[in-house]
Amino acid sequence: MINLYIDFDGVIMNTIEVGYDMFDKLGIEKNEDNVGKFYSELNWKDFINKKCSQINDSIDCIKKIIDSGLFNVSILSHVVSLDEAVAKIEYIRKYFKDITFIPVPKKISKTKMVHTKNSILIDDYAGNLREWTGEGGIGIRFSEKMNGKGFIPINRLDQIIEIAKNNFIERV
Ligand SMILES: [Mg+2]
Repeated sequence: MINLYIDFDGVIMNTIEVGYDMFDKLGIEKNEDNVGKFYSELNWKDFINKKCSQINDSIDCIKKIIDSGLFNVSILSHVVSLDEAVAKIEYIRKYFKDITFIPVPKKISKTKMVHTKNSILIDDYAGNLREWTGEGGIGIRFSEKMNGKGFIPINRLDQIIEIAKNNFIERV
């Protein structure tokens, strides 16, 4: 089995898109200070359960990925607050009885939280993927427009099954 880490924001759920829409509606400028303040004060439970939605059947896709038996699946998500971590964990746990969810403090690289070597990370942020491959991992870019930015792109999570079979998993 190959370790597979899946990002949450912009991969499982459209939290980024919805957050930016809220910024526009509130007329808040999208700079680092404002964004940090907004997300640390946000009611995450409400935000995730009432405002956001899954991207391209992400939860069903993760079920397929688990059922393929090819991967050890974990969710690896940056968080700015414990409230955010709790809301995301509760959301994921509604659908999966037994899964690993690793909240990563925003200031820490995802590469510092888990074994990266020969592990796959699916993330929409190319910066995370560059760090990941820099530490010996395999980076796959989630992009609805299939823009890989130097990485293999996918726009549905279950596409990873065929990609891994063809590229990363040794055939018996
Ligand atoms: Mg993301």
